[in-house]
Amino acid sequence: MPELPEVETVRRTLNALIAGKTISEVTVNLPRILQKPDDPAAFSAILEGRTFTTVERRGKFLRLLLDGVTLVSHLRMEGRYGLYRSEEPVEPHTHVIFRFTDGTELRYKDVRQFGTMHLFAPGEEWSAPPLNKLGLEPLSAEFTPEAFAKALGKRTTKIKPLLLNQEVIVGLGNIYVDEALHASGIHPERTADSLTKREKEKLYHAIIDTLNAAVEAGGSSVKSYVNGQGEMGMFQHRLRAYGRTGEPCDTCGRPIEKSVVGGRGTHVCPACQRAPRGTRQTLKAARGNAVKHRLDGKQ
Ligand SMILES: [Zn+2]
Repeated sequence: MPELPEVETVRRTLNALIAGKTISEVTVNLPRILQKPDDPAAFSAILEGRTFTTVERRGKFLRLLLDGVTLVSHLRMEGRYGLYRSEEPVEPHTHVIFRFTDGTELRYKDVRQFGTMHLFAPGEEWSAPPLNKLGLEPLSAEFTPEAFAKALGKRTTKIKPLLLNQEVIVGLGNIYVDEALHASGIHPERTADSLTKREKEKLYHAIIDTLNAAVEAGGSSVKSYVNGQGEMGMFQHRLRAYGRTGEPCDTCGRPIEKSVVGGRGTHVCPACQRAPRGTRQTLKAARGNAVKHRLDGKQ
């Protein structure tokens, strides 16, 4: 799933591609993408004749602003936008087409069909789902060390699922949570209330630095992510924990280990990110069992 840096990259490319273009016609091939209104004819009627002014972002949601209406779009697993000339053949899995008066069209393609689109009167999007319950925006002025510490509060939840919770902080998914926790030396199974003030500050800066570096690199192209112009991001070459199971930690050389935390595949350096009491023994026991199995296998 695209995370903040990938959605931000899509936002930038889309903004350059469609700002100033006027919609002449909208074709909906897969109504289930539409959430509000969910009727394709009503959806099209609202958009036809309107002009895209700018593309913004809130968390992992795109906000496509038009004159008099806001389109809120979530790409979910594999949603993609692309600008085409009308005569170009329409690729399979193209579900929504915004035809422009200049002979080009914006096409929304989504192999997994999990993406969503909502239309709102300008400003109304903030008081209704899906944007009304979102947490802190990490690359904005509201994200201060104090606001972050307050959002973590005295929660006894493990830090990784807490950072993935979009009602606490937006934009982070599995990749950038693993990266930020590795960069700040915090084990994903630590509870939020066990973090010291200094650890919270390290994590705060790690989140900002990781996201900024990834935005600069155009996001990470793991799985099928490409930006609005079909280009891949480059940050996957700079990941230090995510997807590097068995490879040496850049800081200490110990192999990165993979486990499951909160149901998600999780990448950790066992030396740089000290596990909380109890988990450590479990890991040792797991390794002991692995050795035992290998020995058994040789007999
Ligand atoms: Zn390490």
